[in-house]
Amino acid sequence: MSLRIVIVGAGAIGCLTALELVRRGHHVILVDKGPVGQESSWAGGGILFPLLPWKYGEKVNRLALAGAQIYASLCETLRRETGIDPEYRVSGMRVFPDFGGMVALEWCRTHGMAAEMREDALWLPQVAQVRNPRLMQALCARVLQCGVELVERCELLPLGSSDGSVAVWAARDGRRFEADHYLVTAGAWSNLLLGPHAMGSRIRPIRGQMLLYRLAPGALGCILYQDDFYLIPRADGHILAGSTVEDAGFDKSTTSQAAAALHQKAVLLFPALAHAEIIKHWSGLRPGSPDNVPIIGRHPAFDNLWLNAGHFRYGVTMAPASAMLIADLIEGAFPAGCGDYTFPI
Ligand SMILES: Cc1cc2nc3c(=O)[nH]c(=O)nc-3n(C[C@H](O)[C@H](O)[C@H](O)COP(=O)(O)OP(=O)(O)OC[C@H]3O[C@@H](n4cnc5c(N)ncnc54)[C@H](O)[C@@H]3O)c2cc1C
Repeated sequence: MSLRIVIVGAGAIGCLTALELVRRGHHVILVDKGPVGQESSWAGGGILFPLLPWKYGEKVNRLALAGAQIYASLCETLRRETGIDPEYRVSGMRVFPDFGGMVALEWCRTHGMAAEMREDALWLPQVAQVRNPRLMQALCARVLQCGVELVERCELLPLGSSDGSVAVWAARDGRRFEADHYLVTAGAWSNLLLGPHAMGSRIRPIRGQMLLYRLAPGALGCILYQDDFYLIPRADGHILAGSTVEDAGFDKSTTSQAAAALHQKAVLLFPALAHAEIIKHWSGLRPGSPDNVPIIGRHPAFDNLWLNAGHFRYGVTMAPASAMLIADLIEGAFPAGCGDYTFPI
């Protein structure tokens, strides 16, 4: 049966969920308060890997590894069909101590992840990346191509009181959206949208600041990681340095202290950046969640309200797998492991 589904929030999670639902024959209306993909999904680094996965639980890693596996074919489709290249590259990642030593190697072995010690660093050759702004441009073009009804610059208001099911969702400009199902994919803003119905959801904004440099293409060949700091080289010579993890509410400003601290770490990790100009400094709001575990499931108080949010530090990586999971649930299936992401009461 074809359903009419309103999705609130057009970041990576909302766009990929919209694509999955239209692929299954549903009518999707994707609403965003801004243009598509200008928040966390734009601001992120695009590493398709949960940095030090051996430090996370299986709930995080299962979604992240499943999502990462989909990216090569997803990006090829996006490039071919939209003409916009998300720059998917298997660049590999060098992880410097202290990363967990034998625990890390053992985790890689049991999860089929290639890994070897090279000098003092752990080399993970399969780690891939995408270029976030390009990914989001391509997703925007693709959702339109695939027949998603896209409504940009339309802020939905917090859900008012309803009785057992949502009948309509109102926007600040007076528009009203009616559907069979409503899905919140509003990242850091998800709890605001749920209003008095947030219940046990503890999704909240966690700011991340990032610096951008530019060196000659190929000056840095792979991602470097040490002590919760990374450098990500793009194919054209841009290098991203990030990121901070700050509890600053919905404040997206950048600070000179963060820039100085990030620059210092960047130079320590890759001295060639000592005299490179910082060409951009930005921040984004991650959808923070306890233990980095997103909520993917039905709201306990409404039979037609769903959440796919709270992916915190790995939402881009998790997005394709998370989209499939929520689509299965909306269609009434209960895939293995879905109980791990239920809405906390
Ligand atoms: C600095 C930084 C580095 C990161 N690095 C990585 C990385 O390397 N790898 C990785 O996998 N992840 C990374 N992340 C995390 C990742 O970016 C997020 O987990 C992911 O983007 C979340 O996607 P989302 O679609 O849920 O949220 P968002 O992209 O924030 O999208 C939410 C959307 O909801 C919309 N919205 C909000 N309120 C309303 C409303 N009232 N009405 C209508 N629309 C609304 C917003 O406008 C927005 O477009 C990073 C994040 C940051 C900030």
